[in-house]
Amino acid sequence: MKFHLYNTMSRKIEEFEPFSSPTVGLYACGLTVYDFTHLGHLRKYTMDDVLIRALQYFGYSVQFVQNVTDVGHLASDADSGEDKLEKGAKKYGQTVYDVALKFEKYFFESMDAMGNLRPTVSCRATEHIREQLDMVLELEKKGYTYVIEGDGVYFDTSKLDDYGKLARLDLEKLKEGARLGIVEGKRNPTDFALWKFEREGENRAMVWPSPWSKRSFPGWHIECSAMSMKYLGNQIDIHTGGIDHIPVHHTNEIAQAEAVTGEKPFVKYWVHHNFLRVDNEKMSKSLGNFFTIDDVTQRGFHPKAMRLLFLGSHYRSELNFTWEALAGAQKAFERLVHQTTELFAAGSADVAVSEQATKLKDRFEAAIADDLNTSEAVAVLWEVLKSTLPDSQKVQLLKRIDSVLGFNFEALSSEGLGASVLAVEDLPENIRGLVAERKRAREEKNWAESDRLRDVLQAQGYLVEDTSTGQEVKKATA
Ligand code: AMP
Ligand code: ZN
Repeated sequence: MKFHLYNTMSRKIEEFEPFSSPTVGLYACGLTVYDFTHLGHLRKYTMDDVLIRALQYFGYSVQFVQNVTDVGHLASDADSGEDKLEKGAKKYGQTVYDVALKFEKYFFESMDAMGNLRPTVSCRATEHIREQLDMVLELEKKGYTYVIEGDGVYFDTSKLDDYGKLARLDLEKLKEGARLGIVEGKRNPTDFALWKFEREGENRAMVWPSPWSKRSFPGWHIECSAMSMKYLGNQIDIHTGGIDHIPVHHTNEIAQAEAVTGEKPFVKYWVHHNFLRVDNEKMSKSLGNFFTIDDVTQRGFHPKAMRLLFLGSHYRSELNFTWEALAGAQKAFERLVHQTTELFAAGSADVAVSEQATKLKDRFEAAIADDLNTSEAVAVLWEVLKSTLPDSQKVQLLKRIDSVLGFNFEALSSEGLGASVLAVEDLPENIRGLVAERKRAREEKNWAESDRLRDVLQAQGYLVEDTSTGQEVKKATA
């Protein structure tokens, strides 16, 4: 069965054929590590994970490169505003590097909890300054750049005859106003910063010397072109990101890469994920309307229930997050774990594969091969469980399906669902009081009292753990 993927460049679902089969080079735009990873990010990276697993299922060997943006991502796409990392450092009263490391760690912990595979290469922008600078110098040599005094080195987008092709930008309309005037000195509204200079009095923590300024730093777009090309070559099979990246970030990545190499296309398949929303607004760090994986577990939900919720909608459709929907997914997930645990316990002997099993396998493959129809794949999983197939065949199909959906039911069947963290409002009155008392003791740094209260709670059947976000309470299992 041939794998098919929607390509933003052509706006069509295309048969997938990498440049050099069976190897697939995949670059995923990574997180800007200035604040907590939220459920919107989790949706994007979980659907990336399903894509990678699907490619592996269809026999490809995936080189998965994902960057960590720890410098240069400004608050506005128009090359103005504060660097998000510097903003995060101020907010948390820590150095930019500490903030970056803290939130990079939180990102990977969140990914692990969701069951997402780690990248083959994870690369930080600050560790690839040389590569980024070299690329800007090369663009300068080729005549694509100009300098705006006291501001930065800019890419002259009028030098390319196909700039904006990914987003199908109407350059004439843009000229009339929309982006004009935001940065003084830009020759064209779509021109963008390749390298920025520290402004007077800005006092940035992250600066590097360059031929144009002693205190300067890379623009955001250059990091993805430079690092993807370093690890995957001049032409990449798949590049992923959120739909917000189409008109600016990815458009500019294409401009930089194709101008430097002269090779087209820079990317064969552009994959873009739609947003997770809350109350019909994009869940985002800047809007402050986000929930994290800790919010999920503290309310007693399993991260993989969140995974099931994500897989229930297509990655190109919007999804509105509600706790009611997650509660529904949690119930369904518990049923899945319960039923699959029983199957794994029954064990699997090799038996001839029946026609019914083959049909279900074909249906599953057809769903995944059709631009990742994950909700249909989950429906097939339920049908396998409900079917009259012998247990051994169910187990075989289950493993196959799970290798793409990524729940790891086999591990869950031995780990169980674990005691979930309880929400404060779900605790009995007296336990809630003890937890509050312990919180006070910890704030007063009265460790002896805090330890004593932990023992009291344990004696009453409740376990407390201290995490970066406070106390977590679970019911002790017998
Ligand atoms: P950022 O750190 O803001 O650059 O985001 C990292 C990735 O997550 C990008 O590809 C974004 O498009 C994506 N993203 C951010 N917010 C959401 C959301 N609410 N839903 C889905 N994807 C998102
Ligand atoms: Zn990127």
